[in-house]
Amino acid sequence: MIGGVCVHTGTIPSKTVREAIFQLTGFAVKALYGNGFRKGDISLQDVSFRVNAVISRETEVIRAQLRRNDFAAEIGLAQAQLNELVGLVLIYRNLGGGWQQ
Ligand SMILES: Cc1cc2nc3c(=O)[nH]c(=O)nc-3n(C[C@H](O)[C@H](O)[C@H](O)COP(=O)(O)OP(=O)(O)OC[C@H]3O[C@@H](n4cnc5c(N)ncnc54)[C@H](O)[C@@H]3O)c2cc1C
Repeated sequence: MIGGVCVHTGTIPSKTVREAIFQLTGFAVKALYGNGFRKGDISLQDVSFRVNAVISRETEVIRAQLRRNDFAAEIGLAQAQLNELVGLVLIYRNLGGGWQQ
């Protein structure tokens, strides 16, 4: 998955959830207006909308970087290495090795 844990489940989504809640509740301006200040009710939908928008944007940034750096060639290399590993497992099994799936 382009972006891995950082973009899809880890760093970026977790910090975006935090930041979205701060902004939607007006937490950042409570120092100016007092603890009673509130921007209104927020929903899970509001927060997910922001998180999904950030994930989409970050994924597109990474996709563009990969395109600029000929990522197609890297996919080919990863596939070659995978084929080699699968080949080694098949040889091991055919020689009587106890490989379990
Ligand atoms: C909730 C949360 C919050 C976090 N917050 C922070 C933070 O604030 N600061 C920080 O520094 N770190 C944070 N982290 C940790 C950080 O996100 C991870 O350590 C980092 O993203 C790991 O990067 P990685 O490239 O090693 O692995 P990954 O991001 O997991 O990337 C591995 C990639 O390999 C791909 N892949 C897996 N198997 C295969 C396969 N067989 N063939 C082809 N591709 C495959 C995956 O799809 C993925 O794209 C957080 C993590 C979580 C879960």
